[in-house]
Amino acid sequence: MAKIVQQYIDIAKKRNANEPEFLQTVEEVLTTLEPVLEAHPEFVEAGIIERLIEPERGFTFRVAWIDDNGKCQVNRGFRYQFNSALGPYKGGCRFHPSVYQGIIKFLGFEQIFKNSLTGLPIGGGKGGADFDPKGKSDNEVMRFCQSFMTELQKYIGPDCDVPAGDMGVGGREIGYMFGQYKRLTGQFQGVLTGKGVGWGGSLARTEATGFGLIYYTREMLKANGESFEGKKVVISGSGNVAIYACQKAQEYGAKVIVMSDSNGYVIDEDGIKLDVVKQIKEVERKRIKEYAERVPGAKYVDTPNPWEVPCDIALPCSTQNDIDTAKAEVLVKNGCIAVGEGANMPCTNEAEAYFLEKGVWVGPAKAANAGGVAVSQLEMAQNSQREEWTFEEVDKKLDTIMTKIFKACDDAAKEYGMEGNYLAGANIAGFMKVAKAMMAQGVV
Ligand code: NDP
Repeated sequence: MAKIVQQYIDIAKKRNANEPEFLQTVEEVLTTLEPVLEAHPEFVEAGIIERLIEPERGFTFRVAWIDDNGKCQVNRGFRYQFNSALGPYKGGCRFHPSVYQGIIKFLGFEQIFKNSLTGLPIGGGKGGADFDPKGKSDNEVMRFCQSFMTELQKYIGPDCDVPAGDMGVGGREIGYMFGQYKRLTGQFQGVLTGKGVGWGGSLARTEATGFGLIYYTREMLKANGESFEGKKVVISGSGNVAIYACQKAQEYGAKVIVMSDSNGYVIDEDGIKLDVVKQIKEVERKRIKEYAERVPGAKYVDTPNPWEVPCDIALPCSTQNDIDTAKAEVLVKNGCIAVGEGANMPCTNEAEAYFLEKGVWVGPAKAANAGGVAVSQLEMAQNSQREEWTFEEVDKKLDTIMTKIFKACDDAAKEYGMEGNYLAGANIAGFMKVAKAMMAQGVV
């Protein structure tokens, strides 16, 4: 079976030669599926893998907009609709200068399995643009979002493809995009999630990915006789996922001592004061460095490598390939027992293998950060029913979903003789549901 899997990987390499991030996730997923394909030759026969690694369709489009100096700027927009076996395409949009099709395809591919793991009826997709919201005025962001949506609206719809936020796309950007969609179509529809509370948004959506990460990690720790209580936690990033992961970890008695951004990290041995972080990042949209200027005793370190700080639990919540083998070695040497992946693909494949070898428990991104998309789907359900659920109701459903996801990963790993390998468990559990649906729907 290893030979067949290698053939699939070779096909992906040939077709997507200049997309290393996409190839990285394809390789990671496929190598863990070997025993499943062995047990289910019908999947091989039906070309399930060849079909899975090829998006159903993808769009690239020009996004022209006028900056505050009256100058025309041009960015490139993307939407990849990867797999609709389980439901309408669902997945966020990322605005970041590094975005190109290889990043969107890696995120879209991961999204298929993540959405499957939630147990909810959603397929996988992802989009974005190489636009950098950092340093732009609100008006510039609005004009960009309007131009982006003018093109994107041709391809999306509440029963077809429902985008949401990701890096660089928060409540402000979703609001501008929603307004433009409504203007163009004349429809007030649940076509985007992450909307504002009061106009179709769900309570607890803002918190969902970060809280969900901690619920998943809590279950993983519990299964191994551990908990967050009294643990030292390092978090990379200080955006949406990082902030709410920090909040919930603190509620569970952990001491979060580090948060970061792409320039550096702050260390506060007394524990991060989250109200200060929220003011800096959510209100003022400033750099994490400010934290050390406002909190006595806190220190700013001018290098974006928070993993050099000793911790019990590492929560990478910034970007892909944040932790390579060298950083993983430092974490292990410093006594780290668990990694909860808040960001998508935050560890290289080699770093993940190293953690596994050293007995560090890894909560893999496609399972551990699925809380965001899960609550997005709950937002869709509320929109369809014209209902608004309370914060407590949504949070409780989120906790239940994350607990079930952990169990699914744990059970699948055990079933295939890989106990404790939650990464393989997540890939297998996510894959099985999609593969069965694809089989039932014929060759399409
Ligand atoms: P935000 O844009 O809110 O925050 C991103 C954070 O990551 C910022 O602090 C940013 O710092 C930092 N960062 C970005 N690039 C780098 C880098 N190269 N090195 C170090 N730090 C960096 O994004 P989110 O919190 O929404 O997303 C974070 C991760 O979580 C992403 O991988 C995303 O795909 C994933 N995710 C998000 C979900 C959501 O609901 N938002 C759902 C599931 C996954 P700076 O300001 O300097 O750029």
